Amino acid sequence: MKKKLIYLLCLCFSIISFAKDNNQKVSLIIKNGTILTMNEDHKIIEDGVVIIDKNKIIAIGDKEILKEYSATLTLDAQDGIVMPGMINTHTHAAMTIFRSIGDDVGDRLNRYLFPLESKLVTPTLVYDGTRHGAIEMLKGGVTTMVDMYYFEDQAAKALKELGMRGIMGETIMAKQTPDAKKPYGGIDIAIKLTEKYKEDELITPAFAPHATYSNDSTHLQKIQSLALKYDVPVMMHVAETQAEVDKYKAEYGMTPIQYLQSIGLLTNKLIAAHCIFVDDNDIELLSKNDVGVSHNMSANIKSAKGVSPSLKMFDNGIRIGLGTDGPMSSNSLDIIAQMGYVAKVQKLINKDRTVMPAKKVVEMATLGGAKAIHMEDKLGSLEVGKLADIVIVETQSANMTPTYNPYSSLVYSAHAGNVETVIINGKIIVNDKKLLTFDENKDRENIKVYRHKVEKIAGILK
Ligand SMILES: [Zn+2]
Repeated sequence: MKKKLIYLLCLCFSIISFAKDNNQKVSLIIKNGTILTMNEDHKIIEDGVVIIDKNKIIAIGDKEILKEYSATLTLDAQDGIVMPGMINTHTHAAMTIFRSIGDDVGDRLNRYLFPLESKLVTPTLVYDGTRHGAIEMLKGGVTTMVDMYYFEDQAAKALKELGMRGIMGETIMAKQTPDAKKPYGGIDIAIKLTEKYKEDELITPAFAPHATYSNDSTHLQKIQSLALKYDVPVMMHVAETQAEVDKYKAEYGMTPIQYLQSIGLLTNKLIAAHCIFVDDNDIELLSKNDVGVSHNMSANIKSAKGVSPSLKMFDNGIRIGLGTDGPMSSNSLDIIAQMGYVAKVQKLINKDRTVMPAKKVVEMATLGGAKAIHMEDKLGSLEVGKLADIVIVETQSANMTPTYNPYSSLVYSAHAGNVETVIINGKIIVNDKKLLTFDENKDRENIKVYRHKVEKIAGILK
């Protein structure tokens, strides 16, 4: 796509022009693109215009509205798809450092992941690894990530420096972790994180109990009351394995979802990752209690755990968005790639090529994600009053030409490399496919440092 970043620096002319036209001065205009608003009517505006002032969208429409505004900066989105920034509703970004270790191995978690984490995870590793993961996401059009890891303060720091939005959850487990010497030490760390970032513009702190089976009910209830006190989310792996279902059936005569309801965790504070093993009653409970669900298709099929009934959940009005899970699980942090898996695997398991159409999948990646994190009043669609988190995807590359239906092109043809521009909170973070907020060569050099250490430990574990 021919992209022009026009700086209106002809100040004399501009000032005269503004005064004469009495135009409203704004910070950024996007023009000439095909705008997927993802609003309630799924309105598409051809040759459309988005007007941004500071961090918010203040107007959206056809090119007629251009007459009313003058901008410091104008982006020409000719031949581009202008869409809401995508939301990765579940990841562990710092695990980019361990990416591809233990692939195709049965007990990856105990054999590789836990030993690697206990030996190598430090604040610096989390800082570098999260930045690296975030860069991959940003360049693939993800503007918000929901992250769960250790030393989450360092992860939040890396995101702020990049200018990315994040829901950052400190992991809590009933055992020692890389940053907590005693069981449940993550709770105190999460409280500190929450107090530090509670009012932050880009970072939303969160409590992240790892799972139901790795935390007891007393501590889960304590975490829930803290989340209510601080008004922050709780994120957790939920109903991810058959073994988890069997355990709760045997011990409590309940599904994991019923168990969470019985202890008061099934609320609108919860972002439940995976939800593979959920029955119709569970789906009703998730819907009734306004729980957010993160659907991680490629991680779930790579691990052969199962396929979440995401279509059924979406059609039942559940707040469901897409996630990648950590880079040791799905290897890629690419939400565009997720969209293709979601559409195709749902068609396959339902034996019906008409189900899970592209429009629905794009909705899950954008507005669905915003609903899953309970931030749809601010994110997920391009509408007046929402935060300016916007992505432009070019359609000039061979794989995107021709584009007849932008939803289809995004789900079935596009890859992360087609993302040309990324705007977060009204600021341009990626322009012409280049990251503006960090030196990518420096990032690559940072990551190389870990390679020898990881290979040495992984070699011993073989
Ligand atoms: Zn996970």
